Amino acid sequence: KEFAEISIKDIDQVANTSFPLCMRHLFEKGVGLKLDDALAFWRAEFSQKVGTERFDKEYAYSIRHNYGKEGKRTDYTPYSCQKIISSTPGVGDHHGCPYRHFRFTLKLMHFHLPQGHATRQNAVYHSEITFFLSTQTSTVKLTSKQIYDFYHDCFLLVCLLLESEENLRAALGKMGVSDRAVEDIMDKVRNRHYQLACTLTFEAVHDSSCDAGINHPNQYFSDSQKILQS
Ligand code: SF4
Repeated sequence: KEFAEISIKDIDQVANTSFPLCMRHLFEKGVGLKLDDALAFWRAEFSQKVGTERFDKEYAYSIRHNYGKEGKRTDYTPYSCQKIISSTPGVGDHHGCPYRHFRFTLKLMHFHLPQGHATRQNAVYHSEITFFLSTQTSTVKLTSKQIYDFYHDCFLLVCLLLESEENLRAALGKMGVSDRAVEDIMDKVRNRHYQLACTLTFEAVHDSSCDAGINHPNQYFSDSQKILQS
């Protein structure tokens, strides 16, 4: 190990100083938490929602599985930036690269309209909201009317909400990135250079250069710890 192993009691502080944006969004296993700490962390997070008993029964297994203690006993290596960037997070998912997905992730909400109510008089039909649907290669512009028309026949209305650029700006601001640096980062994001955006963020928050660039969330973390512990 090139930096000291972290434990559960330090996680908030370490997350604040050394997590890249994607990991701030979702505390991940790969950062070096020991299995017992990971279980304690997720038990505390989940037990309010599902209860300790259900957690132990249903969730603890997958955590132990991720650590290679169950099933095939493979210690899963966390994804590289490239893999995260090219993934498509689903509805309600929080994983993904925020530089790409804050801007382009679309949340899909399905409303089943009772028959007879899916008429052109529907208020939603008239609210002319524009949606930008982005794929890897292109951006399509759709109005709520077009979306409504498309789904009209099956009485299903799909509402797409675009997470705005503002979310990313706000997240960077929270990390202490200066306004000027935020503009440089947004510029990279607009040109779809997400890893360069992350590298600029790293340089801004650590006030130190990162010549190799960021290509793995764990590398962001370990490079950060090396700087902070030196
Ligand atoms: Fe995470 Fe990599 Fe995206 Fe940075 S570029 S936020 S490390 S996935």
